Amino acid sequence: MTGKLTFTMIKPSAFKAGYTGNILTKFEEGGYKIIALKKTTLSKEQAGYFYEMHRERPFYGELTDFMSSGPIIAAILEKDNAVESFRKFIGATDPAKAEEGTIRKIYGKSLSENAVHGSDSDESAEREASFFFSLLERV
Ligand code: ADP
Ligand code: MG
Repeated sequence: MTGKLTFTMIKPSAFKAGYTGNILTKFEEGGYKIIALKKTTLSKEQAGYFYEMHRERPFYGELTDFMSSGPIIAAILEKDNAVESFRKFIGATDPAKAEEGTIRKIYGKSLSENAVHGSDSDESAEREASFFFSLLERV
């Protein structure tokens, strides 16, 4: 049984480009209900904690610099089979390899500036949602 919730972020490049409204509309048109939503700016340390699993990867420094470079939009989304379906919906990590019509294909600029984040498992979704939102903000 897979969960109904996933976590997403609109990354600094997409926020800065003014794509927030369009991307949130796409989420809703895709059947994802917005359960919680906020704009915030991560410190480098906070971005480092969020992407902890990638600490040993060569792109970790670049990734955490980028993710702390400006405001992001964080959201919890609800749909059946949320994690798996949303990963398909946003497309491949590299926008150049993402399918036509996916969020990363439309709004992504490069492998690092790929417009949006999507959780990779129910466990990640819960960890990421609770990193950004208190219980009060999620009801
Ligand atoms: P995804 O976001 O599709 O789950 P990963 O978890 O593998 O992808 O990577 C996290 C994020 O790190 C990606 O969304 C992307 O912004 C960045 N990233 C991944 N691989 C690279 C790379 N080789 N070079 C630069 N940035 C990368
Ligand atoms: Mg990932």
